Amino acid sequence: MTDAVCFWAVIPAAGTGTRMQTDLPKQYLSINGRRVIEYSLDAFCTHPLIAGVIVALAAGDKLWEGLTLAKHPKIKTTPGGKERCHSVLNCLHALSSMAGAEDWVLVHDAARPCINREDIDRMIATLRDHPVGGLLALPVRDTMKRADTGQDSGQHVSETVNRQGLWHALTPQMFRLGRLTLALEQAIRQGELVTDESQALELAGFKPRLVEGRAENIKITRPSDLKLAELYLA
Ligand code: C5P
Repeated sequence: MTDAVCFWAVIPAAGTGTRMQTDLPKQYLSINGRRVIEYSLDAFCTHPLIAGVIVALAAGDKLWEGLTLAKHPKIKTTPGGKERCHSVLNCLHALSSMAGAEDWVLVHDAARPCINREDIDRMIATLRDHPVGGLLALPVRDTMKRADTGQDSGQHVSETVNRQGLWHALTPQMFRLGRLTLALEQAIRQGELVTDESQALELAGFKPRLVEGRAENIKITRPSDLKLAELYLA
């Protein structure tokens, strides 16, 4: 008899948000009176299938303890790393003492507050019997241009990129704990600072499944994104 497979969430929240032109890291900005990270955490803490949530925090983070959710029984924290991939790997190492190698891990950016129950349900339903796992993603709709990297610092077009088959990678990204840990460790050892989990699996030779997500699942990156998230969350 095999033990039942569990689902866990990993939330990298150790970024400093240099593009936001604010003193606060983007996951701590407020939307309608609540911090960005509280929305992201809430979706996983309240989900009946999620056994626990591991959050990576920056060294010297003074804001975390002030959150109501900081004491939630499902949440554990761990120190973040230099890049997002290091923060995620720290969470996976922390998780390995309580989870099995075959358990599923949903990695979700703290800075994506518009994640909802329906996204998580669709992702789990689509991927729980998949051999590899996958990610929420959105097909590219606009015509894509590559900027010239010449002397005018990328202000002119060098070419049009065929958008056929191109997708925007979103989060959550859902993979087995054991395989994701090995793939991230291997990528980092090779000097590849992967910007999402799928990329680590791709480098290891796997083909993650694309699960169509919603355009509302934006990542807070620039100040104008806050207004948009405010509308989506109202
Ligand atoms: O900066 P970026 O948009 O890639 O950040 C995505 C997510 O990764 C954010 O939630 C951020 O807090 C997190 N992150 C992290 N550790 C880092 C850099 C980013 O946990 N060193």
